[in-house]
Amino acid sequence: MKIFIDGKYYSRADAKVSVFDHGLLYGDGVFEGLRIYNGKVFKLKEHIERLYFSAKAILLDIPMEEEDLENAVIDTVKANKKINGYIRLVITRGEGLLGLDPAQCKKASVIIIVDDLQLYPEEYYKKGIQIVTAPTRRIRPDSLDPRIKSLNYLNNIMAKIEAKQAGCLEAVMLNSEGFVSECTADNIFIVKDNEILTPAPYHGALDGITMRTVMEIAQSLGIKTSESAITRYDLYNADECFLTGTGAEIMPVIKIDSRLIGDGTPGSVTDYLIKHFRNVVMA
Ligand code: PMP
Repeated sequence: MKIFIDGKYYSRADAKVSVFDHGLLYGDGVFEGLRIYNGKVFKLKEHIERLYFSAKAILLDIPMEEEDLENAVIDTVKANKKINGYIRLVITRGEGLLGLDPAQCKKASVIIIVDDLQLYPEEYYKKGIQIVTAPTRRIRPDSLDPRIKSLNYLNNIMAKIEAKQAGCLEAVMLNSEGFVSECTADNIFIVKDNEILTPAPYHGALDGITMRTVMEIAQSLGIKTSESAITRYDLYNADECFLTGTGAEIMPVIKIDSRLIGDGTPGSVTDYLIKHFRNVVMA
């Protein structure tokens, strides 16, 4: 494995960051997760754009031009000879002092890891998963904009623990007003009367790249889409439900808080979208 750190490749054993890096000390940094399909990085430009937007929002200066970073991602994929896999692109605030002040961190660090990733066992893509509502609420958008894909995932990690405690692989998180925001690392969709609905960033959702791709696919197939306020009642009474994310792709949900969704099997719209999504990523 060759891991890119600030312009050089390191083996897995030698790829290290300082204990004074504010990425480690405070979760101060931003990241992206990307996929390699058939040797090509899927939606690379979109991920790079989101990374720079996240960085700008937290006043983090990425010490590379966008184009150079894109090339560094492509080169790292080639150096690892990965045809299908996952990329973790991380920008940390860099090495500083023990205090919070990021001004003490002179240069951000750029890390690119190329590896395999399987978030969910294959069988769940056919039979769907069960999820629960997490007691932990999403951080309010006026405290931390959910479009910032920051290294600080504690909020989501608490909800992931709650999912596991309830015997589930995922949990749905509500915002402070009780509306559905997203899952711990995936966007959530419902299908109701042949329309697909998903919460907007102002409901607490990340502006997901898979979510956008699914919306585009749905629109091209003539399926109505919208970003909407969704309650737990809407989830329970949806015709279908599914999750989207770079790692998860499209995952059908068949039970929420012990309520069967539809007839308790992945729905036809979800299946249709999964098939078209496969064609898009493999194109
Ligand atoms: N929400 C959260 C909190 C995430 O971390 C992610 C990424 N895993 C997503 C949604 C899905 O976003 P994307 O489709 O861009 O991977």
